[in-house]
Amino acid sequence: AGNSMRRSWQKYRSVPIIYRIGVAFILGSVLGLIVGEPATRLEPLGTLFVRLLTMIIIPIVFFTLLMGARRLSPSSLGKIGAQTVFLYIITTGVAIGFGLLVGNLINPGTGLELADTNVEPEEAPSMLEVFLNIVPENPVGSMAEGSVLPTIFFTIVFGLALTYLLDEYDAGTTVHEGAQTVFNIAETGAEAMFKIVWGVMEYGVIGVFALMAATFGQAGVSAIVPYAKLIGAVALAVGLHIGVTYLLIIQVGLLRRSPIDFLRGAKDAMVTALSIRSSSGTLPVTMEDADKNFGVNEEVYSFSLPLGATINMDGTAMYQGIAAIFAANMVGQTLTLGEQLTVLVTALLASVGTAGVPGSGLIMLTLVLTQLGLPLEVVGMVAGVDPILDRMRTMNNVTGDLAVTTLIADWNGKIDLTGTVWEVTDKVSS
Ligand code: ASP
Repeated sequence: AGNSMRRSWQKYRSVPIIYRIGVAFILGSVLGLIVGEPATRLEPLGTLFVRLLTMIIIPIVFFTLLMGARRLSPSSLGKIGAQTVFLYIITTGVAIGFGLLVGNLINPGTGLELADTNVEPEEAPSMLEVFLNIVPENPVGSMAEGSVLPTIFFTIVFGLALTYLLDEYDAGTTVHEGAQTVFNIAETGAEAMFKIVWGVMEYGVIGVFALMAATFGQAGVSAIVPYAKLIGAVALAVGLHIGVTYLLIIQVGLLRRSPIDFLRGAKDAMVTALSIRSSSGTLPVTMEDADKNFGVNEEVYSFSLPLGATINMDGTAMYQGIAAIFAANMVGQTLTLGEQLTVLVTALLASVGTAGVPGSGLIMLTLVLTQLGLPLEVVGMVAGVDPILDRMRTMNNVTGDLAVTTLIADWNGKIDLTGTVWEVTDKVSS
């Protein structure tokens, strides 16, 4: 009997965690629907999941953003590098804008009221306060209080200062070795945090089951609608951003090239991202597309694409906007303009440290929700549909890397159209 139990356990563990969570999501929902109100008694099991997530927020911000800042080393950034980073930031900002726009139009979370929340609506900050509050008066205080945005800000500044020091001081000097040590600790710390995240996710199977049982126990069948709206909203925002920003503005407007050709050239990367849900995993395909289909010089894409796979996450950042509105809907709040700006800044800065791996956008959501004082239960409640949302986000992420890369290559004359998708058009049109 022990043997067969061990085998079942191994079989269970061999299923990717996010799918197990997906199943728990469905089973929990069904239980809630059948049992009704009494199912809300499972809520504390969900609360435990939420506390486990909350526990790792500040350390994960600190360690992963130090690593992110390391990649942004100003000394390694030439003109092309600076242009790339600049465009990555601008496009991500636009993406969040689309996310918020669609979110405000659809209000995906209405009708899905949280079973039990203790959020006091806070005094909404003004625009000016939003910006001033990014800078901590006391970084340790911000960390201790769990204030996400000031912690992000301080960590990026600290990380950039360390990268400068690495460059300024020769290897072997105390300062150089010390800076390296801090980065080594950050790398190890980040790895450790992700180990913890995956451990927490193992418990998430139970946590999500409980949260969904409580939700559907309270709300009944009508709770299905918000999920459909959430998926629809993400699909719509992704479609808008790809269509308007990448195709209309970048390809047609700035490059005067056919949007269809761009899609043809990017499709391998897009399909791969859709299926594996990881920008980093898709990287070889993205590079191949940039090289073969778009004729981008290796000098450009060997830098821009790996960087993009780690710091440029348009789909992920856009999702934060939609999910924040989803969460606000659930507690019956509307996000003020200042709060939406907070979403923009938090998602933008946090995307620097988000790894291009499946589901990382879900972890990032904890940062945005914490910053806004919205209930973290929402992370558990959207986890069940995350495999679907993550696919769309990741596809958007890699398409954005390619769109910006072709633009940068073109601006700097680092593109050779022979044998690319563009060349074929030229032949057709002449
Ligand atoms: N899976 C996404 C990526 O690799 C990140 C996310 O979860 O949004 O780009």
